[in-house]
Amino acid sequence: MAKNQDIIKSTDLMSDLRYQITNQIEGKSLLACIQCGVCSSGCTVSQYIDLQPHRVVACLLLGLKDKVLNSNAIWYCSLCHRCTERCPKSVDFSFILALVRNMAVKEGYIPPEYEVSINAVLQHGFTVPYSGDMKKTIDRNRAKFGLPEIIPPKLDELIFIVKETGLEKTLEDAKKKKKRG
Ligand code: SF4
Ligand code: SF4
Repeated sequence: MAKNQDIIKSTDLMSDLRYQITNQIEGKSLLACIQCGVCSSGCTVSQYIDLQPHRVVACLLLGLKDKVLNSNAIWYCSLCHRCTERCPKSVDFSFILALVRNMAVKEGYIPPEYEVSINAVLQHGFTVPYSGDMKKTIDRNRAKFGLPEIIPPKLDELIFIVKETGLEKTLEDAKKKKKRG
């Protein structure tokens, strides 16, 4: 018997979700999906995600927006495009996921790891620590392989890009609406 938390009311469904997405991708519509599961069978991150690609498509078709936006599948996807290449119905799933990511950010669903990475880039110019002992190790290893020294990025240019592209505002807006973290 279904538990209460498994029961979804029709009023919780977003009936036009499928069209909102389809309107942005024209011919590569998710409406063509036949739920064959080929996308999931070849997905390179399938063992790490809580909602397999064909299930994401099914949820989008049904209007289960919160379920999709709360799924780690939209962030763990490596955008390798294998699902898109293999789909027998030409559903561009990897592009659909990119659209859903944008939707998630606008609605305040941002994994904390992404915020940490962006803040690290703004503070140091790198997504990984490049200072202290870590810097010494990286420099030593690069020298061992004959690689040139890392040129420090220009932070003022990075900050300019973040502002000009609207990323700063997007993050601020997302923080206000924050739904996951
Ligand atoms: S491979 Fe294409 S048709 Fe098959 S389930 Fe995935 S998206 Fe749908
Ligand atoms: S693009 Fe994403 S969803 Fe598609 S196969 Fe690659 S990792 Fe999986």
